[in-house]
Amino acid sequence: MIHLLLAVGLLASPPPEFSFDPAVSAGQIRYLASDELLGRMTGSPGLDSSAAYIARHFERFGLKPNPQTGTYYQPFEVIRPVRGTTDTLVYRTQNVVGIIEGTDPVLKHEYVVLMAHYDHVGVRRTEASPTDSIYNGARDNAMGVVALLHAAEAFSRQPTRRSLIILPVSAEEIGLRGSRHFVENPIVPLSSIVYVSNIDGAGYNVTDAVTVVGLERTTASAHYKAAAQAFGMRVWDDPTPDQGLFNRSDNVNFARAGIPAPTYSAGFTAFDETLMKYYHQPADQADEHFDFEYLHRYVSLYVHASRLIADAPDRIRWASGDPYESAFNTLYGTQR
Ligand SMILES: [Zn+2]
Repeated sequence: MIHLLLAVGLLASPPPEFSFDPAVSAGQIRYLASDELLGRMTGSPGLDSSAAYIARHFERFGLKPNPQTGTYYQPFEVIRPVRGTTDTLVYRTQNVVGIIEGTDPVLKHEYVVLMAHYDHVGVRRTEASPTDSIYNGARDNAMGVVALLHAAEAFSRQPTRRSLIILPVSAEEIGLRGSRHFVENPIVPLSSIVYVSNIDGAGYNVTDAVTVVGLERTTASAHYKAAAQAFGMRVWDDPTPDQGLFNRSDNVNFARAGIPAPTYSAGFTAFDETLMKYYHQPADQADEHFDFEYLHRYVSLYVHASRLIADAPDRIRWASGDPYESAFNTLYGTQR
């Protein structure tokens, strides 16, 4: 009888994402958005330091490395024009990759990818900001990276039935190139990737909600709503469809291949003054204007929604009639 009660007690205990320490997420974003990393430009030493920081976390949590390299990296090269000239330069950069194997003997052969770009736009001198030239990118997209670090911890402690690929990607800000490189050089067959939960965003102007760009375009909608409810938060779809946000972040490279892939973002109602004050501005810092308590809930909700998706008996599908539905049918064929 005692054993039975213990077992019930264990089953009922909430997963790790319900007891994250807010001091941890605050420390991580302060580092990732620090001046020391000089705005995390693709090809810069600051971005490489960020990659090493992420990889150290993956190692500490016992994630499996990229099977193609035996490291937590997927290196690639990007060719970029040199500003003000017709010359080009080749930069070496890398996606970061960590794998957590699923617990279900059948579903573990399916992968859910948790992705966020970890690069930003670096250092620029502008008239608008003569005293601060470092674009720290706290909201865009250190918040997403912090969420992935928490996912790595929570899912290594309590794995899901499906396997997970945790994928901080590089070179988003110069044309979604890291995610494109991954889709063109996948570390597992693309058709075994059943869902991508991308994180990206311009910032927030509400702190009791999150935005999922493409919320109603896939059947993952119910899981995001359940996770939001569990944290006393609200979730809504992109309030600015005219901006075309769904097709402007890394998720689109996977969506084009047919994989259901919305983008989890902070809560916003419009591209208003509050957002534009920080969006691609040196003011986007983890400073006294940044809401660390909101970051904590944003991260917790993301991890829990990802858990519900990766544990669900049914695979996620596009909503009927979605423009990417035919690519989905082609990719998965009869296995869907
Ligand atoms: Zn971004």
